[in-house]
Amino acid sequence: DPRIEGIAASIRVVPDFPKKGIMFQDITTLLLDPKTFKNTVDLFVERYLGKDISVVAGIEARGFIFGPPIALAIGAKFIPLRKPRKLPGEVISEKYVLEYGTDCLEMHVGAVQPGDHALVVDDLIATGGTLCAAMNLLERAGAEVVECACVIELPELKGREKLNGKPLYILVESR
Ligand code: 5GP
Repeated sequence: DPRIEGIAASIRVVPDFPKKGIMFQDITTLLLDPKTFKNTVDLFVERYLGKDISVVAGIEARGFIFGPPIALAIGAKFIPLRKPRKLPGEVISEKYVLEYGTDCLEMHVGAVQPGDHALVVDDLIATGGTLCAAMNLLERAGAEVVECACVIELPELKGREKLNGKPLYILVESR
């Protein structure tokens, strides 16, 4: 698809952020060009429109940029999966392992119902730990995860293998 090249070119790579040795993939530069931002959302919408998805779950923080326009376009509800102590209602939590230490995602109780069909959206998959925690939250609440969708995959980190065979759709590979 000719739109992919423009998306890839619009992502800025920032060396040594947030720490030395990391080549940070910065999607804020993609958002600066409305046409490229729209192409990004359109590619996801074209894939998921009419696919029986009842909920789009976006992961804090950059899943909150791409998730809502996809949810609106396909007629699904949007739910935020947030870092600890941000959601005001009753939550369920899922811890996951980072390079150093652990992190956690939370979801409101009642946000999804058994039988919901979920799409998980984030900007990027690295090790896959974040998407894995997101899927666990949704499945614990009785939802069925249909697919995960990210703008960028870092294939060298093999995060895809951590998703227990769940399909992952990405637009751009990076290294
Ligand atoms: P994982 O859990 O797959 O190792 O890391 C993915 C999570 O970390 C995502 O929520 C993603 O937003 C964030 N992340 C890790 N590295 C990068 C990066 O280079 N660029 C961006 N935009 N996000 C990153």
